[in-house]
Amino acid sequence: MSVLVLLEQRGELKPCAFEAATAAGKVARAAGLPLHAVYIGQALADQASLLGGFGIEKVYAYERAELGHYSNDAYVPIVRDLAQELDAKVIIGSATALGKECCASVAARLGAELIQDCLDVWWDNGLVARKPIYAGKVLSDVRVTRAPALVSLRPNVVPVVREGEAMPEIVRREMPAVSLRTVLKQVAEAAAGTVELTEAKIVVSGGRGIGGPENWPVLQALCEVIGAALGASRAAVDAGWIPHAHQVGQTGKVVSPDVYIACGISGAIQHQAGMRTSRIIVAINKDPNAPIFKLCDYGIVGDLFEVVPMLTEELRKVQAA
Ligand SMILES: Cc1cc2nc3c(=O)[nH]c(=O)nc-3n(C[C@H](O)[C@H](O)[C@H](O)COP(=O)(O)OP(=O)(O)OC[C@H]3O[C@@H](n4cnc5c(N)ncnc54)[C@H](O)[C@@H]3O)c2cc1C
Repeated sequence: MSVLVLLEQRGELKPCAFEAATAAGKVARAAGLPLHAVYIGQALADQASLLGGFGIEKVYAYERAELGHYSNDAYVPIVRDLAQELDAKVIIGSATALGKECCASVAARLGAELIQDCLDVWWDNGLVARKPIYAGKVLSDVRVTRAPALVSLRPNVVPVVREGEAMPEIVRREMPAVSLRTVLKQVAEAAAGTVELTEAKIVVSGGRGIGGPENWPVLQALCEVIGAALGASRAAVDAGWIPHAHQVGQTGKVVSPDVYIACGISGAIQHQAGMRTSRIIVAINKDPNAPIFKLCDYGIVGDLFEVVPMLTEELRKVQAA
């Protein structure tokens, strides 16, 4: 029996891979089970040196050019077969688009329990995972009743902790013979310099209060200074001011950055569903009664077209100093 962690990569190991490894290490230690990891990608190479200190005994590395990008056809049989070979009781991945799909597909093939988009996971005479429900208004501790079980962890919620420097053994594996029904030919990256929303440490979002697409540069200037990703409310997306990929909320992306700055967003419950687990929430709104002020840690009542440029300028000075 063992605990297996899925190490997500996009060329390099993603920060969420280390978060999942931290959580899986905690579970494995408490359960008294060995911890194994699976890497599927183009080449693990010198990134293996980043995997020390999590308590991982062995990393099973499936390396091939075709595995560089996620493919359900290739990844799912690898994880399923490895989980069976290692008799994995618990499998932990990341609640990214890729991780959620992979975990769901593996769970279906193993007939395993699955808890997606968790904020924490621990061992207490069995596996328990904390998951937001009712658009994030309630946190539910879900106890798993049978093995194996899969858990996907929301990125940015588990601080990465390395204990010691013990390195895992790398076990290189051949890719099993699978017929790839889908071949990924090209990935169109977002414009250079933009930060992926779900993985960003800082998110600046704009809502209807932004007034029109011509005003995004006001927020983009702030994003550039503090290295933030640009988010939006559904009102801004529905108005056609910005593509849906930027939408935060129940029907958009779920983000959990260290800092979330909501500009001209009222704070409807459906918007909160996508950002309420952010560590620090800052709201800029000219209506002192906007619901966002009940949720935020810091609130600025004012016109965003005055406040945001001032904030950008001050932060630029801080950076320069
Ligand atoms: C099933 C369902 C799913 C939904 N999913 C989502 C979702 O995923 N994400 C989402 O965001 N919404 C979602 N919604 C919509 C949600 O209910 C709200 O309608 C939406 O979030 C409102 O967006 P907003 O805050 O930008 O606009 P508004 O509610 O119109 O708020 C605009 C705010 O801007 C402020 N403002 C205006 N001008 C300025 C200025 N110059 N300076 C400062 N402040 C200013 C106003 O005071 C106001 O508070 C969903 C709704 C439903 C029914």
